Amino acid sequence: MSDLIQTYNRLPIEFQSGDGIHLYDTTNKCYLDFTSGIGVCNLGYNHPKLNDSLKKQVDLLWHSPNLYDSSLQEEIASNLSDNHQYKAFFCNSGAEANEAAIKLVRKHTQKEKIITFNQSFHGRTFASMTATAQAKVHDGFGSLLSGFHYVPYNDIHALNNVVDHDTAAIMFEVVQGEGGVLPADKEWLKVVQELCEEYGCLLVVDEVQTGIGRTGTFYSYQHYGLQPDIFTLAKGLGNGVPVGAMLAKQDVASSFTPGSHGSTFGGNRLALSVSKEVTRLVSDTEFLQHVSSLGEFALTYLKDQLADAPHVKDVRGLGLMMGIELTQPSDVSTVVSELLEQGLLVLQAESNVVRLLPPLIISKEDLTKGLDLIVKEIKAL
Ligand SMILES: *Cc1c(COP(=O)(O)O)cnc(C)c1O
Repeated sequence: MSDLIQTYNRLPIEFQSGDGIHLYDTTNKCYLDFTSGIGVCNLGYNHPKLNDSLKKQVDLLWHSPNLYDSSLQEEIASNLSDNHQYKAFFCNSGAEANEAAIKLVRKHTQKEKIITFNQSFHGRTFASMTATAQAKVHDGFGSLLSGFHYVPYNDIHALNNVVDHDTAAIMFEVVQGEGGVLPADKEWLKVVQELCEEYGCLLVVDEVQTGIGRTGTFYSYQHYGLQPDIFTLAKGLGNGVPVGAMLAKQDVASSFTPGSHGSTFGGNRLALSVSKEVTRLVSDTEFLQHVSSLGEFALTYLKDQLADAPHVKDVRGLGLMMGIELTQPSDVSTVVSELLEQGLLVLQAESNVVRLLPPLIISKEDLTKGLDLIVKEIKAL
């Protein structure tokens, strides 16, 4: 019997080590990982540079309160600032980053109306859970935070009907991750940006899953020339060490003053020693180009190979964030468990989508190897 609270359905497999794009379970079976620990270990496992950086910090200092200067925080903030346009607040998770964003929106605008989108995912704390427009996430928790309005994603008409001068912010993911790997339409994003300007509301982008190179640009908003007022990060930022960040344009950021918000562990030295290497490695133009071209290759390959597979409804994605929508949720479960048997880890999203988040360091050869297994399994349904 487990002494854990059962907030997750766990498979009876335990991973005990990892190297590059591979994981090894307690029987030493090797798995090719197309999950990156759900978009976290983007640079793979046992990365020599990340390991060295963390080990060095272990011998120097683990924690220093935010009552003292931190040149490490300054350095990562600068790396994340998109050419010094944004200022950073550090925390420890995606939900915390979004919590900070929602508090900053309210403090800066002195308004409460925040628009978010159906199937979005922003986290599990009360504010981030309220921002998450999914009934199954809200169920049973009583009254939520006030002021949130939910609108269908990629629907210009619906958004136009809800946005007004009382709107404090529009908050969204550029590719909805948990919601089934749904990329935003370019045209819709343009309208979102225009509406924010017209109504003077803040544009808030949740980059927790899409940020730090996952989609082939450092931030996914950069594909579309968006100018967010606030954006949030976590997952890939520490490659597995817990860390989150909220970034805000200078004028917005100045609404937070000493005492407005805080976090004991936020900007922790161990976490940021890893973020330092992560941000350095991922901001490399050639690296991002590699991710981008692999993503384009993979999407074309899957669309091609699955063109007349009867169980496939849609193939979509951006960079190395891909989804294959099947006609039935049970088909997704079958594919996920058959692939697990064969030593390939993939994810399920929004019940009927096979979600692929391979490590960004994967080679074209290994990517193709995994894709071929997936295609074969889907065709066998
Ligand atoms: C995972 C995720 C979160 C929540 O992050 P936690 O670290 O689990 O709190 C928020 N937003 C998006 C888009 C995510 O994918």
